[in-house]
Amino acid sequence: MTKQINDGKVYVDITVSMRTPLRSEVVDVTHEQALRWKADPDLCAARYFKMTVDEYREWIERNGYACCGALTKDGRPCRAALRHPHGGQLDAGEWKRLHRIETCNAHKRDKRT
Ligand SMILES: [Zn+2]
Repeated sequence: MTKQINDGKVYVDITVSMRTPLRSEVVDVTHEQALRWKADPDLCAARYFKMTVDEYREWIERNGYACCGALTKDGRPCRAALRHPHGGQLDAGEWKRLHRIETCNAHKRDKRT
């Protein structure tokens, strides 16, 4: 057999991919983390973004747009997306800080009157 120049060691890198409103986020994980990820990917993604599973899913479903925190006249949550200086689609931390907390322009006007 011909003598090998390389040492023959094999390295396996495992990554997982998570949905975000803007793109996929890819992170390196251990084999054990990959197994947990495969068993419950939304829970693991939510933990990664420091959210509950419901928050994570709503963040994705709303495409990163935070909604108004006021109630309409008939008592339902206002469906308006908040206007935001950075274009509207928010990262997880900013979305959590604003979603259903800040109010839309129409409800801001209501507060003033
Ligand atoms: Zn509103």
